[in-house]
Amino acid sequence: MSGPLCPLIAGNWKMHGRQADGLALAGELARRARRADAARQAHDLLVCPPYTLLSAVAQAIADSPVALGAQDCHTAASGAHTGDVAAPMLADLGCRYVIVGHSERRAKHGESDRLVNAKATAAHAAGLVAIVCLGETEAERDDGKALAVVGHQFEASLPASATADNTVIAYEPVWAIGTGRTATPAQAQEVHAFIRASVARKFAAVAPSLRILYGGSVKPDNIRELIAEPDVDGALVGGASLDVRTFSEIVLRSRPAAV
Ligand code: PEP
Repeated sequence: MSGPLCPLIAGNWKMHGRQADGLALAGELARRARRADAARQAHDLLVCPPYTLLSAVAQAIADSPVALGAQDCHTAASGAHTGDVAAPMLADLGCRYVIVGHSERRAKHGESDRLVNAKATAAHAAGLVAIVCLGETEAERDDGKALAVVGHQFEASLPASATADNTVIAYEPVWAIGTGRTATPAQAQEVHAFIRASVARKFAAVAPSLRILYGGSVKPDNIRELIAEPDVDGALVGGASLDVRTFSEIVLRSRPAAV
């Protein structure tokens, strides 16, 4: 059971947005979040723009409850890595989070669990919270291997440095990302509970307070039932995070009942 963890709602903007779009979206989110914060609507809110917008978005969300994250980082702190961005550079820009191991990077850039593990370690060393993504493909689920695949990814992708303060796990079934097909609440809960048990086995004391997000076609009309599951502690939202009204509606509907 996750208990009363404050939900984290994170927007992954992927490779979208020019300066004007990013500033408008982040500025409006920050305005809404300041109002919601004043009304004591407890969430943790995060946006993960592309690298090109990090600096501008950092300014747009300054003094608001919205946190800044990046979508990837290199394993090294600096060096001859043309085109890459190091975790300390992200921290220097004001990032608090970085996504590692997103399925699009695993599939399109051949990223292995081992590399994801090294990236999460680099994020921790830079003082960032690593959002480590796990998830099975449709074929793997159809073969009844969803838990085995996620379990293997978990074991190999989570570094020994993981704590509840520096790590968030995102369960993102690959077949649900950008497809409009969402895991049922029961499917999500089954995997989240399995991940929670895996955390308890590997990191003992950390398990109750480590947040496990669901990602995969989260929308205003499915967030409520997903977040109602005991081990779903928030959402990683792709497409729906690009529209301020849609994303805000997701945030509003993920509000814990007691707040
Ligand atoms: C994602 O890219 O992390 C994601 C969950 O995308 P979408 O919400 O568009 O399915």
